[in-house]
Amino acid sequence: MVRIGEDQVRRVKEATDIVQVMSEYAAVRKSGKNFVCCCPFHQERSPSCYIYTEDPSYYCFGCKAHGDAISLVQKKENVSFVDAVEILARRAGITLVLQEGPAGNRGERDALVAAAAFATSFYERCLWEAPEAADARAYLESRRLGRASCERFRLGWSLGRGSLVDAARRKGLDLALLAKLDLTVDRDGRLTDRFYERVMFPICDRFGNPIAFSGRLLPAAEKAAKEAGRGVGKYVNNTDTPLYQKGHIVFNLHRARTAARDAGRLIVMEGPTDVMAADQAGYAECVAVLGTALTPEHARQLNSVVGDGRLILLLDGDRAGQTNALKGIRTCLAVGAPVKVAILPDELDPAELLAAGDTVTPEAKATFERVLAGARSDVDHLLRTVAPRPYDLDREALVAAVDEVLGSVRPMPDEEQRRLAAHEVAEWFNVPRDRMEKRLAEGPAPRAPAAPPAEDAPPAEIPLPKLDNAQDRILQLLVARPTLRPIAADEHGLEPSHVPPPWDTLLGHLLMQPEDDFHAVQSAATTADPRLGDAVGRLARTPLVPRGAAPPEDADLRHELALQVRTLRRGLLRTAIHRLGVAIQDAERARDMVKLKALFSERSALQREERDLG
Ligand SMILES: [Zn+2]
Repeated sequence: MVRIGEDQVRRVKEATDIVQVMSEYAAVRKSGKNFVCCCPFHQERSPSCYIYTEDPSYYCFGCKAHGDAISLVQKKENVSFVDAVEILARRAGITLVLQEGPAGNRGERDALVAAAAFATSFYERCLWEAPEAADARAYLESRRLGRASCERFRLGWSLGRGSLVDAARRKGLDLALLAKLDLTVDRDGRLTDRFYERVMFPICDRFGNPIAFSGRLLPAAEKAAKEAGRGVGKYVNNTDTPLYQKGHIVFNLHRARTAARDAGRLIVMEGPTDVMAADQAGYAECVAVLGTALTPEHARQLNSVVGDGRLILLLDGDRAGQTNALKGIRTCLAVGAPVKVAILPDELDPAELLAAGDTVTPEAKATFERVLAGARSDVDHLLRTVAPRPYDLDREALVAAVDEVLGSVRPMPDEEQRRLAAHEVAEWFNVPRDRMEKRLAEGPAPRAPAAPPAEDAPPAEIPLPKLDNAQDRILQLLVARPTLRPIAADEHGLEPSHVPPPWDTLLGHLLMQPEDDFHAVQSAATTADPRLGDAVGRLARTPLVPRGAAPPEDADLRHELALQVRTLRRGLLRTAIHRLGVAIQDAERARDMVKLKALFSERSALQREERDLG
């Protein structure tokens, strides 16, 4: 164990302004002789966390979190007591004298950091000097990653074939350290390099020390491997080591931290080259998670840098709906780290957009800013991915989609945020808010496990799209009573498009051929779609009135038809109005005023029509 003497801890504490430290995690304002802020440990909108300067400490009246500057850093940065003191000491410009305890690992840590630094320099030298790295240099150039940028990020090239091991031996470095860093492998008792022929991206700790690597295969090698049927990863990352846990470390966070606070946003990109391209173009507030999906630990850490919805996930358009992106969003929701999701247009990735280096155009920057400004809320993105066209879903699919989204909302730690998210879901699916809140509280009904299909079962027939009650009843009335058909069309404005395909074929036939009897209708329906033929049979077999009731009068049926068609048309209008509402939101986000105006006028026309029907 490493120890820090009491006197040194006291010195650091005295030199530290807790208000300033807290300001890195929350917006602090003065209140009387103390300070207040929204608690950095729980989601809230009005400040309940007090910072006392007399006996420097903080206390949250909401979640009871409390402590001094050291415990604040410990909890927010997820580091040990010693590391927290070290962080504060650096801030205050104090050099600590650490004492090695009996079971010391500080010594080993330092040795590992030194070994990683040695490997980084070796890889760097190879990249810029080795003839074998010519392709790598050409690749970086083709990605328009300039030498200055590559040097800033300390990119390298792994030659492989034991070159790192040899260099370490010559230098007299303990090879066991490289093994612990996962930079060597044992091949039949012979120690050799783990990484070979890859561009090396160092991953740094919060002080900027390289502690691990992500190695990228060159495109040509990637293609060759694919053709040879060898499965190799485009990126290979370190396994966890004593210095590095991939669930914790974020590429470029050590540099992005300050920039993100200044810019008021932290952008999470997909890969290290994206981050570098953005950095070249002047966006230093970008990071990437490497070698794993976003973990809860990442989410907490990133949120602690900016917080309060200023964390932006930037996704490639073609991958925006992918499982990994959705998983990342769910992880953020579950730990109470609100994110926004910005999606690049299909044909662009950030590296391509911004990689022009010094010559990056104002247009490219404007595009980038526009994409970021159009970022949507996490829940909004989930809704659009899970159910892009809510109005097209039949009831069963709607319930499934609602449950899928609520499944991501339910773990949100803050009750108020959870309720607001449920309202967003309700609006999207056009369901009353209180019903959505209820469903959120209840959880989905347990589903009976589907019986596995029998081995030689015939392929299940695809069922016809479900009709709602009004649609079903109207078709039934029109099949049973040919005299109602002209009335439905002429007096009530019923049209084939008022039912979904292929039902529209049947309805069209009924309205166009009012004189056809049941057999003629059924045979025409069967010709169009055998399933429709069966459906006509079912409609005809269903009694028009409950068994035992008096046979229906024609006048009653006419009256009922009028009501049913009105119900149907109002339902369709409401769906169309809701759909326009979604399009209006999109146009508002895109600030497309021309489209917005057209949509508004279309919507008010439909709203008028709906009122007239009522
Ligand atoms: Zn709190």
